[in-house]
Amino acid sequence: MAISSRLETLSLVLAIAPFFLLLPVELWQRSRRAPLDRALLSEQLASASPLVPTLLVSGAVAAFVTSLYAWAQTYSLWRISTSWGSSAVCLLLVDFLYYWEHRISHRVRFLWAVSHSVHHSSPLFDQTTGLRVSFIDGFLSPWFYLPAVLFGFDPKLVIACFLLMVGYQQWLHTESIGPLAGFDRVFNSPSNHRVHHAMQTQYLDKNYGGILIVWDRLFSTYQPEVEPPRYGLTHPLDSTNPLQVHAAEARALLRDLSLRSSLRAALRLLLRPPGTTDTDASSQQTA
Ligand SMILES: [Zn+2]
Ligand SMILES: [Zn+2]
Repeated sequence: MAISSRLETLSLVLAIAPFFLLLPVELWQRSRRAPLDRALLSEQLASASPLVPTLLVSGAVAAFVTSLYAWAQTYSLWRISTSWGSSAVCLLLVDFLYYWEHRISHRVRFLWAVSHSVHHSSPLFDQTTGLRVSFIDGFLSPWFYLPAVLFGFDPKLVIACFLLMVGYQQWLHTESIGPLAGFDRVFNSPSNHRVHHAMQTQYLDKNYGGILIVWDRLFSTYQPEVEPPRYGLTHPLDSTNPLQVHAAEARALLRDLSLRSSLRAALRLLLRPPGTTDTDASSQQTA
């Protein structure tokens, strides 16, 4: 089996196994604190709801990514043959690019509103939160990994490394695993990712890493977990309606755009961090 196919298989195992292993533990622990109720089920279903459009557009996303990367490959600097060694370098590069994709997705209102805010709008943090990813991500995310293809890595390997990096992140969405001492300092972990999803001021816009958290340490966005996180948006969504889950922030952006009187002001709004207004140059935070 080709290396890319093996990595894709591994990414599926990483994405699926934690869900079935950790969710029962999470539900059991939660049931010891309070009865499991409809509100919990509604929130979990709301988090799982983006799977439906994601599966519906998966064929279109695959066709889009394949054509984009095939086109980019015609401009590549080199053609790097795929080996286990080059795959490790490609994974490192993809993880580095993810750090920037993720950071930009929090700091550019357009990307935040149309896509990434969906992942952050739940007040719950469990394995279902890992499923809460907008289908629009499939059309926005591939652009950020063009440098890996242009550098010369095989598009199939770039896609496999991306899937591996995303699959790795599923197990991070849990409160059932505490801090992991030395591991937390190098790798993204449940403790580090709880901080990323938290709304307290000291936790906002921190811990963007995918597999490695060292990127955050390098670029000054690292924050360890020092107090119990509270999850969700700073302006809570307060809805489990799947349409609201997907579109609330995009609707707010459209409303704010309609109040802009010039194209320049509209562009500034689209590109500025969420929470920033024309009269308030200092940004408030996002998630
Ligand atoms: Zn995020
Ligand atoms: Zn997450």
